[in-house]
Amino acid sequence: MEDRDKGRHKDSDLETKLLTGLAKISLAFRAEEQKQSFEVRLSPTQAKALLLVEDGIQSPSEISKRIGVSRASLSDSLTALQDKGLLKKRRSPEDSRATILELTAKGRRRSDGLADWPTALQESLDDLNTEEKHMLLRVLSKIIANLQDQGSVSVPRMCANCRFFRPNAHAGSKKPHHCDYINSAFSDGELRLDCPEHEAAEMRPNF
Ligand code: SF4
Repeated sequence: MEDRDKGRHKDSDLETKLLTGLAKISLAFRAEEQKQSFEVRLSPTQAKALLLVEDGIQSPSEISKRIGVSRASLSDSLTALQDKGLLKKRRSPEDSRATILELTAKGRRRSDGLADWPTALQESLDDLNTEEKHMLLRVLSKIIANLQDQGSVSVPRMCANCRFFRPNAHAGSKKPHHCDYINSAFSDGELRLDCPEHEAAEMRPNF
C-alpha cells in the first residue's frame, strides 16, 4: 500500500472512531434527558421551553430556534405547558400581532426544580482539566459550525459564525481570538455558543 493510501486509511479509521464516540455521547445525552423528563413529567422540549422562558426568552420563534425544533412541534409543547397551568400567552405590548410567553406561579416553581443539564452529564466533564475543556469547546464549536453550514442544525449565535470574530488574531497567546464587538482578546474557553451580541458573518471565519 502506498504511503498516501495508508495515510487516508488511518484518517478514515480515526474518523470512524470519532463518529462512534460522538454517537455514544449523543445516546447518553438522550437517555439522561429522557430520564430527567420522566422524573419531572415533562417532555425534553417542554422542559427546555420552560427553562428558556424562565431565562427571559419570551418569543415562541426565538425559543424554537434555540431548541432547534420546528414552530409546529414547539406549538404542541407550548399548548401542553398551558394545559398543565405552567405557562400563559399574551399579546406583546410592543407588537399587538406578536405573542409572548410568561410563566405562571406554578410554572416558576416547576422550572426552579429543573436543572439545565442532568447531573450525570455535568459530572462527565468533572474529570477534564481546564486545558482539555478549552480544547473541547473549540472542537465542538467547529463541529457545530460545520453542521450548521450543511443545514443540519440551527445554532445562530456562536462566535464561529459571527462577523465580529477574528480567530487566531493573537496566535500563540493564551487568548488567541479577538472579538471586534468588545474589542478584546479571548481564549478557546471563552468561545460563545449563544451570544446576544452576535451578528451573522457573510462568510464563516476559518479557525
Ligand atoms: S460578538 Fe459575541 S459571538 Fe460575536 S465574536 Fe464577540 S463574543 Fe463571539
